[in-house]
Amino acid sequence: MLITVISGGAAGLMAATVAAWSGAKVRIIERKGKLAKKLLASSNGRGNFLNLDTNETHYNSNNLPFVKKVLDIFGVVQTLSVFEELGIMVKEKGTKLFPYTEKSKDIVTSFIYELEKHNVEVVLNFQIF
Ligand SMILES: Cc1cc2nc3c(=O)[nH]c(=O)nc-3n(C[C@H](O)[C@H](O)[C@H](O)COP(=O)(O)OP(=O)(O)OC[C@H]3O[C@@H](n4cnc5c(N)ncnc54)[C@H](O)[C@@H]3O)c2cc1C
Repeated sequence: MLITVISGGAAGLMAATVAAWSGAKVRIIERKGKLAKKLLASSNGRGNFLNLDTNETHYNSNNLPFVKKVLDIFGVVQTLSVFEELGIMVKEKGTKLFPYTEKSKDIVTSFIYELEKHNVEVVLNFQIF
């Protein structure tokens, strides 16, 4: 099965990685010339990637039961297990979680390494629609 992920941002890298782990052939299409530009800037480059105090009330949505359903399926525990699988050591500051190095580029490097390992095709500078 070929899965095309439209986005080389944080969500796209996560989706592509998990899809590749499931055995699918995966392609990422990103309109910019670089992956994860916004993630690199996140929390001043320190990569605050998760908050332990995560629940549906922290989201803007007119369908909070749906948000809750999604978080029940893939919430803090599942997100942490992906980071563990990527070999990213975690540092806690209050409820905020950072990579141990406090460098978002280390998160991006780990994802790119994993994508390369699973032969995920990355197409840059290509906008869909
Ligand atoms: C200065 C700054 C500080 C931040 N600090 C934090 C923080 O401390 N903690 C935190 O949790 N979050 C923080 N964020 C927010 C965090 O960076 C974003 O929530 C996260 O990057 C969102 O990821 P995403 O994958 O949903 O979207 P994005 O990172 O925006 O990724 C979407 C990608 O899809 C691509 N794309 C869009 N449309 C198309 C198309 N039609 N065709 C091809 N490609 C397309 C875009 O170019 C982009 O690369 C911060 C953001 C900024 C800018």
